[in-house]
Amino acid sequence: MKPHAISIVRTLREAGYQSYFVGGCVRDLIVGREPADYDVATNATPSEVMRLFPVTFAVGAQFGVVLVPPPNGGRDDSRVVEVATFRSDVSYSDGRRPDEVRYSQDAREDVERRDFTINGLLLDPLKLGSLEDEVIDFVGGRKDIAAKIIRTIGDPELRLTEDKLRLLRAVRFAARFDYEIEPRTFAAVCRLAPVIHQVSRERVADELTKMLTEGRARRAFELLDSSGLLHEVLPEISAMKGVAQPPQYHPEGDVWTHTLKLLENLPQGCSRTLAWGALLHDVGKPPTFRVAPDRIRFDRHVDVGVKMAEEICKRLRLSNADTEQILSLIHHHMQFADMPRMKESTLKRFLRLPQFEEHLEQHRLDCLASHRDLALYEFAREKLAATPEEKMRPAPLLTGDDLIQHGYGPGPRFKEILSAVEDAQLEGRLHSKEEALAWAQAEFPV
Ligand code: ATP
Ligand code: MG
Repeated sequence: MKPHAISIVRTLREAGYQSYFVGGCVRDLIVGREPADYDVATNATPSEVMRLFPVTFAVGAQFGVVLVPPPNGGRDDSRVVEVATFRSDVSYSDGRRPDEVRYSQDAREDVERRDFTINGLLLDPLKLGSLEDEVIDFVGGRKDIAAKIIRTIGDPELRLTEDKLRLLRAVRFAARFDYEIEPRTFAAVCRLAPVIHQVSRERVADELTKMLTEGRARRAFELLDSSGLLHEVLPEISAMKGVAQPPQYHPEGDVWTHTLKLLENLPQGCSRTLAWGALLHDVGKPPTFRVAPDRIRFDRHVDVGVKMAEEICKRLRLSNADTEQILSLIHHHMQFADMPRMKESTLKRFLRLPQFEEHLEQHRLDCLASHRDLALYEFAREKLAATPEEKMRPAPLLTGDDLIQHGYGPGPRFKEILSAVEDAQLEGRLHSKEEALAWAQAEFPV
């Protein structure tokens, strides 16, 4: 990827334009992290860029962005480079995007419109020498990287007001790199937290998902909390604070403390659904908290939690597939405790839930964040390892057609009969079609 990005800079330069690496990739090269993608900034206009390269995709030409794939690569090639024309953004009246994009000849103007100093660096990859020589810094980004500080370029209030997504980006970068947010920048984030709603929910959700899956999710959520952003975007999580739990099951403390401990152990690069499941698995506890005579109880917190999570996923416009899996993770999270007493058929149905490995991992995180006893986790893993696929998901012994052939009328009863037959099969009580049919006829007379 990097050679392709360098060759783009060279092609532009040879055609007489200015061109540099810019933004996140420069920051990442300085901190010694592999950049996820390379962005090139140039004074060439989009149409000039499109003329210079044989294949380009003008996805964001109105913002001056052209995608340049590597030779023989397509638009979705992971090595595709974004080539953006230097621009200055003119006024943001909606708090989301610039009213007008004005192209510029000046690299300095281009970095000054960017969000944080660490994201405002340029790098000349054609210059031979150390990073010191290659990096061009108009905004004080190098110093802030060295001091581990997230600071807006220019006046914090103004820059965060222009595009409110930057409120969440400040938190995300601070968490991801384990930097501090500079005090004036942080004060502005806190003051502006209530206007985060001007940003589309998809963009908010996207930032939250990144915070959950990029590592250091705990720090991200602590910063969301202390800035007041959590109360705005996920009040249901905010409500976990101070909700006590029975100490015999939860020596770690309240529901918020427990949830933070799960987030702390979410691995970098974990799936979106596991991350959201871990965050939301106990979301039903605050509204179901009750001090019973024996101990604190959260009656029906799973059902309540599933309903609340459904609302949250809908509000944040998560995909239907992700939502379904997240709700499943919440719905089943208390069932690990029942495993040793489950009938064989129930146990197998549990272990064959779609993406069971996420259920298992969420359970492990849940245990590590409370009593730390992994006995049930080990039990599930052993069962899983000891049950071959054909025992877990055997081919059905009977079908609806078989039932029709033997005089059963189609209807809701079919499902009941077939499911009972499968249970008996999973428990090893039925082995053949003939056995299954005889058993069904005895148990469910026509
Ligand atoms: P990541 O590693 O998560 O991709 P990044 O810094 O590369 O982080 P991108 O969203 O890919 O972030 O954006 C690339 C660059 O564009 C940023 O480094 C920053 O300079 C600029 N940028 C992105 N989003 C904004 C924004 N909302 N406001 C101002 N500048 C932005
Ligand atoms: Mg990027």
